[in-house]
Parts: sequence; structure tokens; C-alpha cells
Amino acid sequence: MNTTTLERITPFVNEPIKDFKNPTDAAAMEAALAAVKRTFGKAYPLIVNGEAIETEKKIRSIDPAHPSEVIGIVSSASRETAMRAIDVAAHTFESWRKTPADERASYLFKAAALLRERRFHYDALLVYEVGKSWVEADADMAEAIDFLEFYAREALRYAGPQPITPVAGERNEMVYIPLGVGAVIPPWNFACAIMVGMASAAIVTGNTVVLKPSSDSAVIAAWFVDLMHEVGLPKGVLNFIPGSGSEIGDPIVAHPKVRFISFTGSKETGLHINELAAKTAPGQKWIKRVVAEMGGKDSIVVAGDADVDAAVEAVAVSAFGFQGQKCSACSRAIVDASIYDAFVAKLVARVGMITVGDPADPKNYMGPVVNEAALKSISEYIEIGKKEGRLVAGGKRVGSEGFFLEPTVIADVDPAARISQEEIFGPVLAVIKARDYEHAMEIANNTEFGLTGSVYTTDEQKIERAREDFFVGNLYFNRKSTGALVGVHPFGGFNMSGTDSKAGGRDYLLLFLQAKSMSRKL
Ligand code: NAP
Repeated sequence: MNTTTLERITPFVNEPIKDFKNPTDAAAMEAALAAVKRTFGKAYPLIVNGEAIETEKKIRSIDPAHPSEVIGIVSSASRETAMRAIDVAAHTFESWRKTPADERASYLFKAAALLRERRFHYDALLVYEVGKSWVEADADMAEAIDFLEFYAREALRYAGPQPITPVAGERNEMVYIPLGVGAVIPPWNFACAIMVGMASAAIVTGNTVVLKPSSDSAVIAAWFVDLMHEVGLPKGVLNFIPGSGSEIGDPIVAHPKVRFISFTGSKETGLHINELAAKTAPGQKWIKRVVAEMGGKDSIVVAGDADVDAAVEAVAVSAFGFQGQKCSACSRAIVDASIYDAFVAKLVARVGMITVGDPADPKNYMGPVVNEAALKSISEYIEIGKKEGRLVAGGKRVGSEGFFLEPTVIADVDPAARISQEEIFGPVLAVIKARDYEHAMEIANNTEFGLTGSVYTTDEQKIERAREDFFVGNLYFNRKSTGALVGVHPFGGFNMSGTDSKAGGRDYLLLFLQAKSMSRKL
């Protein structure tokens, strides 16, 4: 990219989400679903140093709506191959770190353009591989495109001159340089967006990457790795090593040549990685940097003066969009006693309108949960919830083929109950009665997490109180707790929700960089 091209880079704007009421977009989506279905069962190799490697051991990525359908058969890296991929990444780092920032950014711009062209195919794959509705899938893709566009621009900003106080007799500068080899370990729930965001941020800042995707969404990661090579990313910069986290995760994290780990997933895995990464392996020359974005137990507080209808709508959408499998999903509605009964009645009516079924059919709002283990664990929480509160909606499995659950609401839950404290990561909402706003704030802060939260109120003083005391990384007023936009709502949580990396924010790329200060006597 030359200077003229750089000058033509427009300010970042968010990618719009498709309106599937538009018949052209709906028809394109139907065609993409049919086309992607024809690729089912395809084999996807590992990619190390740009070379495709087939292994005997495979990950079968299935459609959670029809578990007998195999979306793709992905080669699974052995420990040895994973170690080789790290060696390749370490070797490639020596050239990649010297590649100009504008060239690195150009690969992200080109990738964003190609993703836009192939948007409906990626949408369709998300519908099949993780059970997203059309709209949820498209929002995931819009976010992936946003991350590429935003981080490309951010990398150019960090590559530019940094402000330094002048001093007589010296020429001083501070530059940001990359760290080295990064292990990028994303979750399955924003199967494209988070995977793309974490990998592209590492690459564009001059690091090389071993990408270990979630075993539940390895095919979309394989598509993205192919696309990055298609736009010309040099071999060895992005190495693709799918495999079971419990088998190859530890050796990757512990490897002495891994300089940083960029992780998003559960609290348990994040804490384990953090602990392991803190141990120094023989031959290791640095303290590893760990960025760990973890779980949530997010609340919407509904004050006595709130617009109850608006609050009901926001709670329903935040709790049951993508089956409650967002880290930002509302899993607790904390409602002022004065409006509690009216709120619960309206919520039950609203939840009764939610359609559950195959997400390939756009009339269904909720699809399946991601896999059988999730179905089991969420069902166990529903049983616990039935004892801890009053089941007022849902509670049952839907059908027997896919992993479908009804949207479930449990009212009259004690703030200390397990379903009020533990991350369920499914379509289960606890409704908690608060004596007053003070009590509601107290309950809102009573978990070990601190990711998102929302408050419904018309009272400025209550808003001010929450601004000061509601301890979450992303706080919203009079809107849902989900749907953070890149650049607009930098995202990341406090406490056991992680390291507050603020993905999609101006500080994010610093996590992949270190600063070098240079001074020359004149
Ligand atoms: P997970 O089970 O912790 O897995 C996350 C990733 O870690 C997967 O790629 C997994 O691989 C890998 N992994 C498992 N064990 C490992 C080990 N010992 N070493 C290295 N990697 C290992 O989480 P998930 O079920 O995919 O995602 C859901 C969780 O993510 C929820 O808790 C949600 O709140 C959280 N989340 C947080 C944010 C945020 O921004 N804070 C955003 C999205 C999701 P395998 O798939 O092969 O096991």
C-alpha cells in the first residue's frame, strides 16, 4: 500500500446488518444455505507454513439442529504438529515483524472485502455449524468485517509517530513493536467474529499466530484461514492447528517460544491457561502475556420507574437471542418489587411468542444449543432452577433430534441461588425481586463476574448511581445488554469476566505490542 492509498482510507464505520425482509437478501441467503449444504462432509486440513496437512485424527463438526449431519471433517493436530507450527511461527516472525504496517493492514482490508462478497455463504455456515438464526449469523459476520476494518486502521495509527516530549540535544522517539508468537484460542459462540478479531489483531501488529479454533466451530475457522492465504498473507504467519483443547491446549500454552496467549472462553479454561502460562519453561526468555476474556452472569436491572414494556422486550431479546449463548446475555432480571408482578406477567407472555426450531428456517427465533454436553448441562441447571425458584416459562427440551430447549424463565430466585450466581450459557433466565433500587444495585454486583449490565430507569439519579457503582465492563442504560458494536462499545469485563481487553476499542492492539523508546544524541 503506498501513501496515496493510505490517504484514501476512509474513517471506520460499522458494517450494516442485512435486512432479511428484503426479498433479494432473503433469496441470496436461501441460495447460500443450499450451496453450503452441498459442501457438507468436506475435509479440512491443518495449515502449517501454508501447507495443507491431513491427519488421521479428525474433528467432526456437526449441525446442532441435525446432529447426524456432518458439516465438515477437520484434521486434528497432534502435539508434535502443534509444536512444529509454533516453530514455523517463530521462524516466520523474523520476517513478518519487519513487514511494513501498511502491507500488514492491506491483508485485513482485502479480507474484509472478500468477506463482504461471500457474506451469505459465511452466514449460512454459521447457521449450520453453531445454530445461529439468519440475523444472529449476519451480525456475527458484520462484526468480523468490523474487526478487520477497525484493527487495520488502528495498526496504521500505532505505526505512526507517537507523541514524545521534546528535549534539547536529543532526537527521541517511541515505536510500538510486536511481541512474537501468539497462541490464539477463541470460543465457538461468536465463531467468526471473535476468531477473526483475535487472529487479525495479532497479525496486523506484526506477530505470528498459531490458531487453535474451538472444536465446535473449526470449519468456519478453516474458511477464514484459507481466505487469508487467498488475499496473499505470507505462509507461516497464520498457522491453523485445530485439536481438542484438553489434548493440545496445555502444550501450546506452555511452549517456551509462545510469547502471548490470546484467549476467549470460559472462566475455568481462562484461569487454567493463566496459571499455566505463568510457569517459566526451560529456555523461555520472557514473561508470557495472557489476555483472557471469560464468562459472565449479566443482569438487567428494572427500576420501579422504568418503562416496563421496553424492559420486558430488552430482557427477552438479551436472554434468548442465540439461545442465551452470548457472554453478554442477560441471565438475571433484577426487578423492583413495586412492578415485579406486572413485569413477570408481561415477560411470560412475550417469551411465549418466541419460536424455537431449525435456524435454517427464518421463522425460528431460537435455534439449538451448541452441542450435547451443553444440552445436558443447561438441562441440569433447569432442574436446579425448578428447586431454587418458580418455573414460569419453558423448562423442557423441544423435539428429540437436535439440541433444542425452550426459552426458560424461573421467577422468585434468591440472589445467592446457584442459578443466580453460575454461568449457565443457555436459554435460562432468573428473575429476582429487589426491595428497592439500593437492593437491586447490591444484587447486581453480587457475583464474581463483571461483564455486561443494563439498567432500565427514567431517573437521572439512578443512572448516576449505576454509573458509579454497577461494576461491569460494559454498562447500558435503557437498552439491551447484548449487541456491542466494534469501535462504539469497546468490549471486555471485570473480575472473573477477564482481563478487560476492550476488544474493538482503541487500546486493544496495545495488548499485542510492546513499546521501544529510542534516544539519539545530536
Ligand atoms: P471454553 O470451553 O473455555 O473453550 C474456549 C477455547 O479454549 C476453545 O477453543 C477450547 O478448545 C479451548 N480450550 C479448552 N481447554 C483448553 C486448554 N486446556 N488449553 C487451551 N485451550 C483450551 O469456552 P467455550 O465453551 O468455547 O465458550 C463459551 C465461554 O466463552 C462462555 O463462558 C462465555 O461467556 C465466554 N465468552 C466470553 C467472551 C468475552 O468477551 N468475555 C466472549 C465470548 C464468549 P476445545 O473447543 O477444543 O475444547
